[in-house]
Amino acid sequence: MQTANQALDVTVLGAGRMGSALIRAFRAAGRSVAVWNRDYGKAEALTPIGVQPFKDIGEAVGASSLIVVCVSDYATSSDLIAALAKAGAISGKTVVQLTTGTPAESEDFAQALDRAGARSLDGAIMAYPKQVGENACRILLSGEQAVYDRVAPILNALGRTMFMGARPGAASAADGALLFYSQATAFAYFQSAALLMAQGYDWDGLADLIGGNEITADSLKSWEAAIASGVHTGSEATLDVHYAAFKSIVAAADASGSRHPLMSAVESQFERAVALGHGGDELSGAFETMRPGRAS
Ligand code: NAP
Repeated sequence: MQTANQALDVTVLGAGRMGSALIRAFRAAGRSVAVWNRDYGKAEALTPIGVQPFKDIGEAVGASSLIVVCVSDYATSSDLIAALAKAGAISGKTVVQLTTGTPAESEDFAQALDRAGARSLDGAIMAYPKQVGENACRILLSGEQAVYDRVAPILNALGRTMFMGARPGAASAADGALLFYSQATAFAYFQSAALLMAQGYDWDGLADLIGGNEITADSLKSWEAAIASGVHTGSEATLDVHYAAFKSIVAAADASGSRHPLMSAVESQFERAVALGHGGDELSGAFETMRPGRAS
């Protein structure tokens, strides 16, 4: 049903893998949710959980005062917000940007929203879609403290919100640092598993030997199962999505003169995995570029 100008709790722009997870978590917390997605079918598919899908982005934004954006990249979200600003649809709204990007993009985005008469927070989701809504899912947010205080009670439906500071780029900067750490660690795990496999030693207890916190242990176990089966399909985050986020980290490192050989090594692992056709796999698809005897 398409009904504009209703006072729903939140509008979500983007119903991809992560956007859908955010929407489900808001609904699970009892929040009323308006949804817009470029491919309307994905928004409509969420009607069984009680969301209101909109074909028109302006009507979706008109349905609530809190707008959460989660699309592929900042170029996309900036285009969407620019069109809304031109139509006068974003003034007076509070926009929470949960798309991955660089700190510089966050700063630019916050300024564009300020010029359009909107308040904003820039954020980063430190989890996979299946973890959204759990306490283990951290949502890093930066911007005006008063805005954070006002919207945190609603955003708490997504996980554990953490205020990172007033600079709009602060959440994105922390996201890049944590993401590079976890991606580099993932490739280190794939290399370690390949090393054990190539020597003919047990490799499938490695995840338990490494252990780690809840999210790390869960990832390791799912990668172990994917490596064992050779099947890397899933519904969390594609290697392409990881690589896009990684490119933002590299851009921030290059801009700040802090790229070192380790980052370049991880970059070439991503390039190789994508070149060999694993972009649509989950991250563990990169292991196939290292599998002893038949790396592809
Ligand atoms: P995804 O499943 O590929 O979804 C991408 C979303 O962006 C879809 O809603 C897509 O719409 C939309 N989109 C792409 N190009 C567009 C355009 N030109 N105009 C309008 N909409 C467009 O990716 P995802 O995994 O949900 O990731 C979304 C964001 O969340 C990314 O910034 C990612 O880094 C971040 N994130 C993801 C994870 C994760 O584990 N998946 C974790 C943390 C953060 P269509 O459906 O119409 O294509």
